[in-house]
Amino acid sequence: MACLQPVRGTHDILPKEFRLHRFIGDLAASIAERFGFEEIETPIFEFSEVFERTLGDTSDIVTKEMYTFQDKSGESLTLRPEGTAGVSRMIISNGLTQKLPLKYFYRGPMFRYERPQKGRYRQFHQIGVELLGISQPQADVEVIALANMLLKALEVSGNITLEINTLGNLVSRNHYRKVLVDYFNDHREDLSEDSILRLDKNPLRILDSKDPGDRKLIERAPIFNKYLDSESEIFFASVCRKLDALSISYHVNERLVRGLDYYGHTAFEFKTDALGAQGTVLAGGRYDGLIAQMGGHDTPGVGWAAGLERLSLLIKKEPTRKRPIAIIPVATEQHDLAISIANRMREEGYNIELAYQGNLSKRLKRANRLSCRAAVILGGDELERGKVGIRDFDSGEQMEAELGALSSSLLKFNSDC
Ligand code: ATP
Ligand code: MG
Repeated sequence: MACLQPVRGTHDILPKEFRLHRFIGDLAASIAERFGFEEIETPIFEFSEVFERTLGDTSDIVTKEMYTFQDKSGESLTLRPEGTAGVSRMIISNGLTQKLPLKYFYRGPMFRYERPQKGRYRQFHQIGVELLGISQPQADVEVIALANMLLKALEVSGNITLEINTLGNLVSRNHYRKVLVDYFNDHREDLSEDSILRLDKNPLRILDSKDPGDRKLIERAPIFNKYLDSESEIFFASVCRKLDALSISYHVNERLVRGLDYYGHTAFEFKTDALGAQGTVLAGGRYDGLIAQMGGHDTPGVGWAAGLERLSLLIKKEPTRKRPIAIIPVATEQHDLAISIANRMREEGYNIELAYQGNLSKRLKRANRLSCRAAVILGGDELERGKVGIRDFDSGEQMEAELGALSSSLLKFNSDC
């Protein structure tokens, strides 16, 4: 029955993967906090206009990937395909442009109708940051430094390189745009249909095309850097200098553009070759015109987003977690005592597994399988003497402890793995 399968491109997140998502998300939130970013959450759906007006009507997201539907009152709504447009809408709706600078961290599901592959889903999860209100290059460097620190802390940075580029200011972009239009017009017959449309509306977008025919033309296309004005050059040089000062290594990729309309100046991607065509794990840039374009006060912004599924694929080590302790009653008579000990220990902060099923040896085996650190065995004879048995699963040692002093006897087993 079709409805017993998850919808194509979606997946259930079972405990092992969920632990990874939570590990990455929590680490990202805490590193973001060190940089002064506070966590927020915007709705999972917005009026379709929020995305249509900002992402650009030639972007892949708007033309092909959005989950748009009418609700019962006839409103056109869209499941969010990315975070920045929603955060910008939030800033305007809440009048927050009066309180600059603003620094936000977010995490949550995003939705894009794409061809599912390893590391590419229709419902996926992103973490991201946005820094608003600072037009100087130091803001670009702050968000890149934050990303770099996170990837290092996740121990994935060995496989990842940072690529950066500049898309210049508006004057430079308009200049370059003309040069690009001339170049691609000369090769119009070799362009993909999508790119012919982009040629009129947003030729820079062609540089981000994944079409193999387009890629060949792009390789020989004029490079942006030659058309930067001095303001754009100074800005980019300053970003690079500050990254050098922080010893953050990067590679300038003159072909790097971002797929959305609202980017200018800095664009960057942290890439790996370990994930095939899904090589970009974290990507972002500066979007100074966005909030004004949405109808808010002119407010500069810079930020990035990263996919949790792609990051998870790169993480080698299992996140640590506190190993549980098993409470094992030997017979039915000890069940009530087992529950009350378990509850008390949980109040004290222990992770406790209660074992009821099967004989004693089955209960011990199950506790071992759950990677319990130790078991407290409640047997009738020992309890009569006011004692319980303790089995250390790591050393195999078996000992006795006073029931009244159980807490202190278990302290040494309250460990992570
Ligand atoms: P791509 O070129 O791989 O399609 P993108 O440019 O569309 O990526 P962004 O919009 O910059 O991606 O999103 C930022 C990050 O979110 C990506 O680097 C990636 O890690 C993740 N991401 C984007 N789309 C998906 C998806 N469909 N499934 C899983 N992760 C995704
Ligand atoms: Mg994409």
